[in-house]
Amino acid sequence: MSENDRPIGTSGSAVSRRAVFTALGVGIGIGAVGLPTAASAATPGWSNPTLGTLTSGYKTPSRPDHAGWDIANSQGTPVYAIAAGTVRDIRTGSYPGDPTSGPLPGRTGNSVHIDHADSYFSYYGHLHRVLVSDGQRVLAGQLIGLMGTTGNSTGPHLHFEVHRPRLTTTDPRTFLANRGISLGSTAPLGSTGWPSVSQGTTSWVARVIQYLLRGRGISVVVDGYFGSGTTTSVRTFQSSKGLYVDGVVGPITWTALILPLQQGNSGDLVRGLQVALNARGASLTVDGAFGSVTATAVRNFQSSRGLAADGVVGPVTWSTLI
Ligand SMILES: [Zn+2]
Repeated sequence: MSENDRPIGTSGSAVSRRAVFTALGVGIGIGAVGLPTAASAATPGWSNPTLGTLTSGYKTPSRPDHAGWDIANSQGTPVYAIAAGTVRDIRTGSYPGDPTSGPLPGRTGNSVHIDHADSYFSYYGHLHRVLVSDGQRVLAGQLIGLMGTTGNSTGPHLHFEVHRPRLTTTDPRTFLANRGISLGSTAPLGSTGWPSVSQGTTSWVARVIQYLLRGRGISVVVDGYFGSGTTTSVRTFQSSKGLYVDGVVGPITWTALILPLQQGNSGDLVRGLQVALNARGASLTVDGAFGSVTATAVRNFQSSRGLAADGVVGPVTWSTLI
């Protein structure tokens, strides 16, 4: 995919933001305006990379060169960033059975490599689709791709590695266990509390979906009614992302629709956020400008739900709002 999913309209240059969050020691893109405190920005957030069954372990006696864990599920199962970071070395265009290495030596198939804070990296291999682009910043739990069997693989699974430092692997199951995440779990992730919304719905949720579609470049009328026009637009979006095309906004489509938002962003994605915040008790003008008033509403909502009140709307805050 060549699309750059970075939110538009962020204040400040990429260079200054990079400098700011490097100084804070965290991997999320905090805007130059409305910085949270270092303590709240550094609040760790971790996600399981996918749901499925463990099928092969890290450097086992029979596979001493296997530098990660394999988690198997059906093709198209969502794959998530384990933590905030910056996408590096993506590979697309590979196919099942493709024996050639990607940007990282010895790794075959479509893949994403994420550069996290604190000199560690995560690697996601054999993907069916890559849904992020090089240099894109992601948050914990953000959808980055779909499980597949591209490259040297015998069936759909995620090959998952953790490197610290880069290209020096460590056992990713132990790494995540030390952070409260059970690799290979089939229990729901933290950010899957999404409703399934389909044609016939009239509500603020339909209005949010319409704003998100527009924010993602899909033409749709924003009227709060999920009619045939909205269904067509959802199908167009699903097709553009390589998702199953059914016109229903369920958990996978939701996680593909949203993008992380923070103070300084603007546009229809922010309008969607403001509609959701108003439905949760705020009294915002739906103007598409993520300024200090919207940031305060986000922090109030996060506090009320026991979330880290950092004012950054990532996947967990989004799914709690909807
Ligand atoms: Zn593997």
